[in-house]
Amino acid sequence: MGIYESLIEIAGRDRVSNGPEELHFYSRDAGAQPPRSADYVVLPKTTEEVQKIVVLASREKIPLTPMGGGFTLSALGVPNRGGIVLDMKGMDRILEVNEMSRYAVIEAGVTQAALRSYLAKNHPDLQHSTPEAPPAVTVVANALIQGHGHISPRYGVNSDMITGMEVVLPTGEVCKIGSCSLAPTWFTRGPLPDLAGLFVGWYGTTGIVTKLAMRLYPKPKYRDVFLFSTDEIDLIPDAIAGVTRLDLLEDFFLITQEKPDWMNHVFFVLILSAHFEKELVLKRDIYKEFFRDFAGGGRVQFVEDLHPALRKRFLDVPPLAALAADFRKGGGFEYTGAILPIDRIPEAWRKGMEIAHRYGMLCSYVHQVLPGPGIMFGFNYSFNRADEKDIENARKALAESNTLTYELGGMVWKGELGAQEMAMDRMDPNTLRLITRVKGLLDPAGIMNPGNWDPGGRG
Ligand SMILES: Cc1cc2nc3c(=O)[nH]c(=O)nc-3n(C[C@H](O)[C@H](O)[C@H](O)COP(=O)(O)OP(=O)(O)OC[C@H]3O[C@@H](n4cnc5c(N)ncnc54)[C@H](O)[C@@H]3O)c2cc1C
Repeated sequence: MGIYESLIEIAGRDRVSNGPEELHFYSRDAGAQPPRSADYVVLPKTTEEVQKIVVLASREKIPLTPMGGGFTLSALGVPNRGGIVLDMKGMDRILEVNEMSRYAVIEAGVTQAALRSYLAKNHPDLQHSTPEAPPAVTVVANALIQGHGHISPRYGVNSDMITGMEVVLPTGEVCKIGSCSLAPTWFTRGPLPDLAGLFVGWYGTTGIVTKLAMRLYPKPKYRDVFLFSTDEIDLIPDAIAGVTRLDLLEDFFLITQEKPDWMNHVFFVLILSAHFEKELVLKRDIYKEFFRDFAGGGRVQFVEDLHPALRKRFLDVPPLAALAADFRKGGGFEYTGAILPIDRIPEAWRKGMEIAHRYGMLCSYVHQVLPGPGIMFGFNYSFNRADEKDIENARKALAESNTLTYELGGMVWKGELGAQEMAMDRMDPNTLRLITRVKGLLDPAGIMNPGNWDPGGRG
């Protein structure tokens, strides 16, 4: 029996395709990376189906690429060497919400929007950390790529919130990680050897996560947004250090855009939340006072007249902070997500602006403050999807901001193949050898999303 027929036997005719229309979509994503070819697409419904597909792929030595929403923009879920795309969106059940211990157990295809609306309807006092990504992205893939959400400045990046996993290993074995490996409780991944790290940050090269438990958080009743602005880029690190030292925020991001003119400033966007009204009033007063006195006073202004439409966009969950991109330019949007220490921000800011201008783009930034504090410094690029030269420009700009990120001592988050290569070029050789050994141990047939974290001749 051929691969196509075997996949149909496992998952059913309706959930397998090798038709040109489907393969066209699964061979590219919304970012600027060149398309690559998928040979088969399958949407499994159960862990057992995933297991059988993995066994088939391993036996036939055919590449297998897991995919959630496919929205990293860095083509991480687009197969580099053909083979099967395992679209996890068919596994879309929310299996448990534990109100008391505050966690949810979900299948790999549950989208951000699905979990959010399920909680709003059934557990209105709880929330999960929602990334500012399209609603169709999956909670699981976002946690696995170390994404961040609207409460990350307060509670940590989303991979820190994992409390348990079920994984199908590349050999077909199903493995549980955390307390769920001992008992039917998914509330913690320690104290045990922390095996979750074998699957977080690996882009599906070490196994397929079929179920995940994520922490949930209390949902405060009151929320508000404050904007402060300045034109002094060199003040940014101290401002972030000071604001986060107070430890009172739900979310904190920075935006700027060269056009329209009113946006051509550094904006600090502070989202406050509180369980009591007087708590909110206190937090508001504290931040106004902080910026009034900051850096000798008068250098950072409170934005008094925030337009109601903008207010709504910032207070929505997820917020629409990426309004800073130049969407008029043919619909394409890309960014280098640079995870940087905050003292490097002014240099990144100035050099990033030079990169955008060199490629004829407006400079637009959205930066998410992360715990530490660190920052996800978004070097954003807009491009015209219908113009090959423009797409090529976006790729070159990405490569330059990736290089800049590493030169500044940072790391590229969810990097495309080129960014991964740059990381491995700079990596301590023993670390790289360890990565190679772990991959070889878990995936001896080398079938899992090949090309990613591939050391090639290094190490
Ligand atoms: C406009 C915009 C704004 C964004 N803002 C944010 C933001 O604020 N915060 C943020 O974190 N991200 C953001 N993103 C990036 C990205 O969209 C999200 O991180 C998203 O959650 C990724 O999830 P996905 O389901 O699309 O992942 P995919 O692209 O489908 O997968 C990502 C990686 O995980 C692997 N994978 C997928 N499922 C599994 C599985 N079950 N087991 C093992 N490996 C698997 C894939 O092979 C791939 O390597 C943004 C993207 C866009 C387009």
